[in-house]
Amino acid sequence: MPVTDPDYAQFGGNTSCVLITFSTGRVAILDAGTGIRKLGNDLLRKSHEQYDNISIILSHTHWDHIQGFPYFDLAYDPRRNFKISICGEDRMGKDLKNLFMTQMQKDFFPVPLEKMGANFTFLQPNITTYEHPSGIKIVASKHSHRGDAYGYRIEEGGKTLVYCTDVEHKDGIDPNVVALSRNADLLIHDAQYTPDELRVKKGWGHSSWEQAIEVAEQAGVKKLSLFHHDPEHNDIFLSNLEIECQKHFSNVFLAREGEEIKL
Ligand SMILES: [Zn+2]
Ligand SMILES: [Zn+2]
Repeated sequence: MPVTDPDYAQFGGNTSCVLITFSTGRVAILDAGTGIRKLGNDLLRKSHEQYDNISIILSHTHWDHIQGFPYFDLAYDPRRNFKISICGEDRMGKDLKNLFMTQMQKDFFPVPLEKMGANFTFLQPNITTYEHPSGIKIVASKHSHRGDAYGYRIEEGGKTLVYCTDVEHKDGIDPNVVALSRNADLLIHDAQYTPDELRVKKGWGHSSWEQAIEVAEQAGVKKLSLFHHDPEHNDIFLSNLEIECQKHFSNVFLAREGEEIKL
């Protein structure tokens, strides 16, 4: 749930959306939460030809990961031949394109998907390893969340980013998540709950900060970004939480809106 209250300004109140800029200038977007609105405006303003081909890679299609998409202005510009490939899993008997069309049908939104200007391709993350000729390697791995979700390991030029949100570790830490995160330069991991909150939120599909640190330690991760903040956790709460987490893992910080990290 996006939050706009003034005491959420430091960490930001938008839902999941992360931009990756590769060394070639090519970009990919992880999840299309409400953060994609401002991102689309930024990319349009910079108007780089590398932005004519964009991949949006989805962890899954829960609201908070697709709800910004109808406000992604880049997809509306009919003067440019934008090609946008959207990678995510079909769900509940509906294919991915249908899920995107549904959230933009007239009951929910005034403009249908087919009236956006971009050319869309819809892909499934069922190829576990994808290697692009430019040297980008992406590994997809399914993890436990209500209706499942995907984590991604993205490698380029000897650097590794792992994006693993909306993950619920069942009995102990999921070894597949540790394997995906092995020796990553940066791990972005779900940490919606405190350990106390997690005890009463079993089955809600998320992790505690303690579990995220456990994954980072087991996997030998260099830097850990705690992600997917709970909408009830304001700036004061999160600032205190960050100090607490840094007592347990040296290179950990809480994700902040607009923050740039160079690997
Ligand atoms: Zn979810
Ligand atoms: Zn989510």
